[in-house]
Amino acid sequence: MPRIGFGFDTHKLETDRDFWLGGIRISHDKGATGHSDADVLVHAICDALLGAAGLGDIGTHFPDTSSEYKDIDSKVLLKRTLDMVLKKGYTIGNLDTTIVLQNPKISHYIPEMIKTLAEVLKTDRSRISIKAKTSEKLGFIGREEGLSAYAIVLLEIS
Ligand SMILES: [Zn+2]
Repeated sequence: MPRIGFGFDTHKLETDRDFWLGGIRISHDKGATGHSDADVLVHAICDALLGAAGLGDIGTHFPDTSSEYKDIDSKVLLKRTLDMVLKKGYTIGNLDTTIVLQNPKISHYIPEMIKTLAEVLKTDRSRISIKAKTSEKLGFIGREEGLSAYAIVLLEIS
């Protein structure tokens, strides 16, 4: 039977911080803050994969109390997550995601994000979907204090 998994993540945005999103660097005067590179989309995808495989969550496997993960490239975490999922005998059916961010506009970055994530996940680009929307200027996302990402993944038995 295929297995479905869901992931969510949110991070704060602050000035003078590199902005990593979907595995690539976005040009902006603010960046997401966190223990790692704070890539909200990659973290949501990790949680969706772990959830689908019944492997817990990102905080359990890569605790933010560990110096090993300080400022780490989240693509490394994604690669390790994929390895755990493959080891359990699953492959990625498809992955659908949404980024919620007020500014900047990121739609033109999406093809590069998909290309980057397909390489890390060793899957075809056609299996990955990334959508972007604003929060209509409502709440902390609307005030550009932070951003969120949602991911859902279908795993198939390999
Ligand atoms: Zn995160």
